[in-house]
Amino acid sequence: MSSARLEGGDARLPPSTLMPRTNDAQPTIRIGYGWDSHEFQAGIPLKIGGVTLPHGKGLGGHSDGDVLLHAITDALLGAVAAPDIGSLFPPSDSKWKGVNSAVFLEEALKRVRAAGYSIANLDSTLILAAPKIGPHAAAIRSHLSEVLGLAPDRIGLKAKTPEGMGTDNAAIAHVVVLLQERKRQSARKGK
Ligand SMILES: [Zn+2]
Repeated sequence: MSSARLEGGDARLPPSTLMPRTNDAQPTIRIGYGWDSHEFQAGIPLKIGGVTLPHGKGLGGHSDGDVLLHAITDALLGAVAAPDIGSLFPPSDSKWKGVNSAVFLEEALKRVRAAGYSIANLDSTLILAAPKIGPHAAAIRSHLSEVLGLAPDRIGLKAKTPEGMGTDNAAIAHVVVLLQERKRQSARKGK
């Protein structure tokens, strides 16, 4: 009897005092994931990670077809729950045709900064039958380091061939990013 009365009293308290809530405060870290694919086409330059690679075919479709920059852009946008690359820069809009994909990446970086975060690290995997990425990996990581303002030792780049997938005429990119809250970084540096 008395315990029933106590329960009634508890129920009138604000819900926050009854249930643990874990997602009220801004998280100090956020993860983002991006994926993209483009089809190879003859007669256009191949751009991957902002670097033009010597190859007989390039990647068609949206903008300059830079599959890696698109996946990085989507990973960054996803990490701050922003609209994805296709919503911000619709492929149907002719003004994005052939455009340098660094434009999309810059917008994503702006949104990450505005949300109060910076990139802790990034990891990526490319899946393509050709060309071999190994000889160009250093150049791609160096270019990404520059455009992202991120040390090369925080940028993972792996390449695999599409064994058994039947996607030999496509390039696919998977990217994960980890963001960290900027003011905590500054606090640690004593700023
Ligand atoms: Zn794309």
